[in-house]
Amino acid sequence: MSDPIGAGAPPSLAIVVPCYNEQEVLSDSAQELLTVVAGLVEAGRIHVRSRIYFVDDGSRDATWPMLEQLALRNPRIVAVALSRNRGHQNALYAGLSQTSEDMVVSIDADLQDGPENIAAMIDAFVAGNEVVFGVRTERDTDTWFKRMTAEGYYRVMQRLGVDLVFNHADFRLMSRRAVDTLLEYPETNLFLRGMVRELGFRSTTVSYARRPRLAGESKYPLRRMLSLAWRGVTAYSIAPLRAITLLGLLAGTVSLVLIAWVLVVKMFSGSAVPGWASIMVPVLFIGSVQLLCLGVIGEYLGKIYEEVKRRPRYHLREVVARQAVESESSRSDRSMARRCLVRLPEEM
Ligand code: UDP
Ligand code: MG
Repeated sequence: MSDPIGAGAPPSLAIVVPCYNEQEVLSDSAQELLTVVAGLVEAGRIHVRSRIYFVDDGSRDATWPMLEQLALRNPRIVAVALSRNRGHQNALYAGLSQTSEDMVVSIDADLQDGPENIAAMIDAFVAGNEVVFGVRTERDTDTWFKRMTAEGYYRVMQRLGVDLVFNHADFRLMSRRAVDTLLEYPETNLFLRGMVRELGFRSTTVSYARRPRLAGESKYPLRRMLSLAWRGVTAYSIAPLRAITLLGLLAGTVSLVLIAWVLVVKMFSGSAVPGWASIMVPVLFIGSVQLLCLGVIGEYLGKIYEEVKRRPRYHLREVVARQAVESESSRSDRSMARRCLVRLPEEM
């Protein structure tokens, strides 16, 4: 990687903001983000050529005309439009693939994750971290229901063996290399907070208290939350498949006991209705055998699933040699990523 902080010039910053029907918050958010960027530039923390990328995710309100105006008036603002609504994760991905700056921060348009924390994220980046996760310390401004479901979800995911940062959503800073590496992941079902964790570069967290939404209402109603949650489980864990095998083993054990009981009743009590034992034994036996077989098929399905995702097997963190080594294989891909915006993967 070319040294992002080297050569005296501070690193450039890109802020990526997915927007879906955000007309109520947009002007305030844009203003606040511009102020934050201007402040950082003034303080010499980031390069003057830092930009804010707004991605319109097929909004049906005035979001796009507003974004166009903002981009025309401010050289620091880039407005990107998707052909139609593709969901938060895809919009974010599209925005990431447009950037070319040294650091990329993703943030929601309602600025619930305060942009004043970006300064701390940059500190962590300068200290050598490639990924800085924003972590919500308190959720007082969220409804009780949102808080319970969100926190319960992180717990369940941890139980299922999915490596997530607790209470981290999509407010994070990534180095150029981390972003380029992320863009190499070919999977269609994006669950970015899991994928970024998967990259494995040096990372840290920055904590902050979550603010209430500036205006407008949440674009994540329960249905979308459930869909994202389920995508996280199925994209990162084959535990549900494995559970079938366990269930099969359990059913097998229980049915063996029941079969023994049926036979005892049949042979020694004489109270069994004719035909009862000969029906019960096969029902119990075949039921558990079937579950077990489904579980075995599930195991293979899980393997196939992992294979078809074609995830990269590893990412290099560093190559040390006496001569300078060109370790940045993905830099040339970036221009391609910039061009293939319209070829976004279909959302489920
Ligand atoms: N968003 C999007 N596409 C969608 C839904 C949401 O780009 O289909 C954006 C939205 O504009 C916002 C971010 O995703 O910038 C998070 O949405 P929201 O703040 O409504 O979610 P919450 O904070 O309630 O979880
Ligand atoms: Mg929000």
